[in-house]
Amino acid sequence: MKFTVISRGDDGSNTVAEEIQHHLGNRGLIIDDKNPDIVITVGGDGTLLHAFHRYKHILNTVSFVGLHTGHLGFYTDWSAREMVFLALEIVKNPGKIVKYPLLDMVINYNDGTKAAKYLALNEVTIRSAVGNTMVADIELRKSFFERFRGDGLCFSTPSGSTAYNKSLGGAIIHPSISCMQMAEMASINNRVYRTIGSPLVLPGHHTCVLRPLQQREFNITVDHLHFVHANVQSIKIAVSKETIQFSRFRPFPFWKRVRESFIGDKKR
Ligand code: NAD
Repeated sequence: MKFTVISRGDDGSNTVAEEIQHHLGNRGLIIDDKNPDIVITVGGDGTLLHAFHRYKHILNTVSFVGLHTGHLGFYTDWSAREMVFLALEIVKNPGKIVKYPLLDMVINYNDGTKAAKYLALNEVTIRSAVGNTMVADIELRKSFFERFRGDGLCFSTPSGSTAYNKSLGGAIIHPSISCMQMAEMASINNRVYRTIGSPLVLPGHHTCVLRPLQQREFNITVDHLHFVHANVQSIKIAVSKETIQFSRFRPFPFWKRVRESFIGDKKR
């Protein structure tokens, strides 16, 4: 089996990354940064997001496993203390593969520029680039749904529903459900302007298209990445046909992770 280890880059994570690399290398696994079968991240959720974007061109063949050197994360099941145990598990078997949904975003321009395509593991967020209100028509399944006015919109995957989406009041969605969620960022709602106001959960086969009215320059984030796009004609968001694969070497139920991350261990 070919593997690579990605560290967050701080001293603690680098030490753990070197140790696990050493353990796996000593047991006959081959280091391959270009075409790994398994990517081990050491750090936090952000480290796994970086690794996902680095290997998103080989998602069919690669699987990910996350080790945290800080607090428990949503993509980081293993603590640094369990590093040797994890290494032995990886050597023994490839683990159970669990697949999580992703989002596709396609940006079309009105000046003939080729469409831009992105893949997101957590979410994409769309805001006006010039700091004023974002005004855009929202189509769901090719039908007009609402005219949005406000700070912006967040489209999240089920596994990203516990990240930015949660701060926006979105629902937490189990990653076994193939869907995406649209959550508003400070929409303007009064006698003149109206949006639905609630986060929407769309099934895997529904698409959402955003068509700007006047202002065509947008600040767009894709997970930890940030872009500015001008001359935007439309932005299409849908659940991707691609998925991310995680290697599970022991069960870690999603709701247990939610509880441990947001509520704590104690009965209150
Ligand atoms: P980062 O890597 O420092 O992450 C910020 C926090 O988000 C960390 O505590 C991380 O553990 C947590 N996080 C990341 N993915 C998560 C997930 N799927 N479920 C639960 N928590 C998760 O920050 P960054 O590199 O700038 O951006 C990475 C992510 O940060 C973005 O994808 C976005 O979801 C999140 N973010 C959240 C807010 C917010 O909640 N207001 C604002 C900006 C970015």
